[in-house]
Amino acid sequence: MNLTLGPTIELDRLSEKRPDKEYMASLVEAETSRFFVLAGAKPVVDSNEDRTETRIHWFTGPEISEMGLAISEAMLLGLDPSDGTARFAVATSEHYARGAPQARDTLKNRAEISTLAAQGSMPASELALVGQAAALATWHENNRCCGRCGGSMTFKQGGWKRKCWACGYETFPRVDPIVIMAVTDGDRIVLAHEERFPDKMYSTLAGYLEPGDDVPHAVRRETKEEVGLEVGEVRLIGSQPWPFPHSLMLGCIARAEPTELVVAAAEIQDAQWFSREDAQAMLEHRHPQELWLPGAQSMAHHLVKVFLGGEI
Ligand SMILES: [Zn+2]
Repeated sequence: MNLTLGPTIELDRLSEKRPDKEYMASLVEAETSRFFVLAGAKPVVDSNEDRTETRIHWFTGPEISEMGLAISEAMLLGLDPSDGTARFAVATSEHYARGAPQARDTLKNRAEISTLAAQGSMPASELALVGQAAALATWHENNRCCGRCGGSMTFKQGGWKRKCWACGYETFPRVDPIVIMAVTDGDRIVLAHEERFPDKMYSTLAGYLEPGDDVPHAVRRETKEEVGLEVGEVRLIGSQPWPFPHSLMLGCIARAEPTELVVAAAEIQDAQWFSREDAQAMLEHRHPQELWLPGAQSMAHHLVKVFLGGEI
C-alpha cells in the first residue's frame, strides 16, 4: 500500500509533556531544535535541478527569528528518537514569504504539497511531516476567534490546543473523517466524474461522515444519495491522513446490487459501472476514451487496485 501521507517515521509527539510550559519553551530554544516553514501551506524545500528529489529545508531557531517569523507559535511535530532533536513547523502567509525583505530570498523555494505527493519526489517520512504541519496550520488559521463567545483564541501547548482568553473555551486540532468507497457488484465498479475534477478523471465515491454515522452507515447513506444504489456489506480496508485541509480518508469496499445508477448529487457530472478491463485501462492511462484515475498516492487508486486484485 503506497500511501505516502501516513506516518512513516515515528516522532515522539510528546503529548503528555505539552502542558509543561517551561519544558516546551526549552525545546523551542534548544540549539539542536530544527524548524521548517510553511508559507501559505507550501513547505520551503531544497530540490535538485530537475526537481526529482525534494527535501524539507530545516532552519535553526535563530534563522527563524531573523526572518521575523513567530517562533513563539512554532508547532511541535515531535522529538526524533534517533538523535533527540525536536522538530517544529512555523506557518506564515505566502504574502509575507514573497514580500518581507528579510525572508523572501530564504523562503523562495516553496512547493505545493499535492504536487509533492503526486510526483513522489519527497521521502514519505518527510511528506508525512509536511502533511501533519499543514493540517495543523490550517486549523490554527481557521480558529482565530472563539466559536462560543467570539473572543481571541491563544496558541497553547506547542500548537496542539487553542484557548479563548475571554471565556476559557478550549479547542483541539480537528480531523474530518471521509468515507471513500469502491462500490462493486463483484464484477464491476462504480466510478464518478465530479465537476471539480480534471478533465476525464474518474474516482471512487466519497463523502463526509455526519454526526451519528458509523463507517458502514456513512458508506450506505452517501452511495444511496449520490448514485441511488443500495449497499450491503461494507469492509473498511485502510485509512490515510489527507491534509487538504485536515481529513482522514477511510477506504472501504462496498457490495451493491447490480442495478442502474441514478445520479442525484449535484456535484457528480457522470457516474458509471465500469468493467475490470476498463478500470485497469484507466489505472494505466490507456483507456480508449482517455478516462483516467487518481495517482498511486491516493486512496481511490489503492481501492481500485484492491477491486482488481479480487480481494472483495
Ligand atoms: Zn470564548
